[in-house]
Amino acid sequence: MLQKALLAASRRPGLRRAVVGNPATRRVVDRFVAGETRDDALAAVRALHADGVQVTLDHLGEDITDRSEAVRSRDAYLTLLDGLAPLGLGPAAEVSVKLSAFGQALHGGHDVALELVRPVVEAATAIGTTVTLDMEDHRTVESTLAALAELRKEHPGTGAVLQAMLFRTEDDAKALAVSGSRVRLVKGAYDEPADVAFQRSKDVDAAYLRCLEILMAGPGYPMVGSHDPVIVQRAHELAAQNSRPADSWEVQMLYGIRPDEQRRLAAAGTRVRAYVPYGVDWYAYFMRRLAERPANVRFFLRSLVTK
Ligand code: FAD
Repeated sequence: MLQKALLAASRRPGLRRAVVGNPATRRVVDRFVAGETRDDALAAVRALHADGVQVTLDHLGEDITDRSEAVRSRDAYLTLLDGLAPLGLGPAAEVSVKLSAFGQALHGGHDVALELVRPVVEAATAIGTTVTLDMEDHRTVESTLAALAELRKEHPGTGAVLQAMLFRTEDDAKALAVSGSRVRLVKGAYDEPADVAFQRSKDVDAAYLRCLEILMAGPGYPMVGSHDPVIVQRAHELAAQNSRPADSWEVQMLYGIRPDEQRRLAAAGTRVRAYVPYGVDWYAYFMRRLAERPANVRFFLRSLVTK
């Protein structure tokens, strides 16, 4: 119930104003968001790199309503990649994009998003790194996977995200378990209807493990996007069973979530990447993080009453 309410709130502009305008919220947001500017993001990249943790950077923003905002998203990523270039981290610092921030939901949006994201992918390739296409709600999956196929023709390292909660995902995992393909497998963060997605967490977890087996057995590059110890442990077992070298797959976790575990895994030889969001438009991202975990909500509520 609480989870559904928070996910619904993530799309309500009225509540957005109440949360964004509250100074007490800032401290909680800082736990999940690296800051508002490119320099804040680059500082987080340097700190994580010093701990042996790679990054994928997300310039926050989604569900934009006109083309000029989509152009601004493109420009923000181009500026970010300019800032990453001198760090010389190559694929250890990549970017994640939401196609809805590039206009996917506008009229003719698939083509708009593809046109605007292409220069970002080209700029990433030019500095030796990659772009991963985040996955949003189930209505966007066809368009996002079609964009992926298009972009991979010239930039085969472009990655995608599959959400275990969707019924279709096992088939998508089979289709994407091919040489050179980079797939981040996650449970899924959106409130999806029962005709397209598993509703019980134990069914989502079981589906995740089935998809993980498919990806880890294939010749692609699986990116295990989860904080769940059962999943991370199973990924290590499958890597061993499939004789995967340590550089042929990775674990990904969100910035600020289980940071000690991120460092511990990296020190033990697992490739670990943190998903680092930054920017002023943090509201929807933040609300999804609250929805994922009651402890996050308690942390948030405490911050509102303590100074
Ligand atoms: P959960 O089911 O949330 O938690 C399982 C267990 O993990 C918990 O019981 C606990 O033991 C442990 N755990 C979880 N959180 C914590 C914590 N804060 N502290 C301590 N232990 C904890 N979703 C999308 O829909 N599209 C995307 O493009 C997308 N990209 C993502 C990228 C990355 C790198 C990651 C990590 C997630 C992404 N997600 C995305 C979100 C994802 O779908 C899940 O909503 C989110 O990861 C929560 O699921 P979980 O697998 O971490 O496990």
